[in-house]
Amino acid sequence: MLDIKSIPAFNDNYIWLIQNSDRRCAVVDPGDAAPVLAYLQQHELTLEAILITHHHHDHIGGIPELVRQFPTIDVVGPANEPVPTLTHPVEAGDQIHLFDEVFFVLGLEGHTLGHVGYVGDGKLFCGDTLFSAGCGRVFEGTMEQMHQSLSKLAALPEETEVYCAHEYTSSNLAFAMAVEPDNAQLQKYREEVNRLRAQNKPTLPTTIRREKWINPFLRVDEASVIKSVSNRTTQMDPVSIFTALREWKNEF
Ligand SMILES: [Zn+2]
Repeated sequence: MLDIKSIPAFNDNYIWLIQNSDRRCAVVDPGDAAPVLAYLQQHELTLEAILITHHHHDHIGGIPELVRQFPTIDVVGPANEPVPTLTHPVEAGDQIHLFDEVFFVLGLEGHTLGHVGYVGDGKLFCGDTLFSAGCGRVFEGTMEQMHQSLSKLAALPEETEVYCAHEYTSSNLAFAMAVEPDNAQLQKYREEVNRLRAQNKPTLPTTIRREKWINPFLRVDEASVIKSVSNRTTQMDPVSIFTALREWKNEF
């Protein structure tokens, strides 16, 4: 069983630190090396691996400095993206061994074309694909790819803990409430999120179960969501509903 800690970076990024029982650890998406190095020093941990979900700078910017400090470190990341100094390029379907756990590599195209996620030990590291109550912007892929990627995540076991790369939950909830004002689960969750944020605590991890109740981007088959976008699309298939939702969120 691995222990996960959040290291805040920039305005709203989380660098997730995966810790083994014997003080070895890995980090996911270190956009900045400084907060990682400070955390390692403070807690007397040794960094053995870096996992990367996609090539955006706020996810990879810390790699060169971390590799300089830990020259034998494993750097795992998507084979199809420009990520510096990868020692273990991975693709969808691959497995990686992290301490005593096996993580499966999921192909999560959409936000970027080679975006991957890592799932193992009941935990999902999904970068900028799924956020609590929202999803990543579709920069490089198609709406269909993003919808497909989110469907893969929705099919994971419901108790899976979801470690998203940004603290966007509050603003995502404002949009989710506009889509489904009568969703009682959403109202309850918003109160919980407001309480956590007032104490400056992370709202993450979330779970697949919760997201299926409250995240409009995982609810494109729900009558309430379809009704809310019915004036924005003439087609009612799931990809069209997803596209209408994503475009609405872009201008929200
Ligand atoms: Zn990104």
